[in-house]
Amino acid sequence: MVNILIMFALNVKKLLYAIRRGDKMKIQLMKCGHKPNATSNGKPCCVICAGIKSGHDEFGEIIDLANRECKCPMCKKIVPSDKHIAFFEFKPTEKYDEHYDGCRGWD
Ligand SMILES: [Zn+2]
Ligand SMILES: [Zn+2]
Repeated sequence: MVNILIMFALNVKKLLYAIRRGDKMKIQLMKCGHKPNATSNGKPCCVICAGIKSGHDEFGEIIDLANRECKCPMCKKIVPSDKHIAFFEFKPTEKYDEHYDGCRGWD
């Protein structure tokens, strides 16, 4: 019985890994355009737009970040767009997406 459970756990892990690899550059955004960066009542939301823009607590589209770059508006540093970047914001109409890389501190 224990063996079966272990086998099952390994398979799930493999499956999750495959999904993650296939979707490496895909990201689910909130409707405001940011990736979810906080939770509210257990649901993902965007703390940047809370109280400013509607859609901060609704899921928007899934987008593909392959071949996109994003820029920090403070230090102008450009890095390849990645869904793991903090405060990432997708800017479909602009050359660069935006993110904040912490260059001015986090508070
Ligand atoms: Zn937002
Ligand atoms: Zn910066």
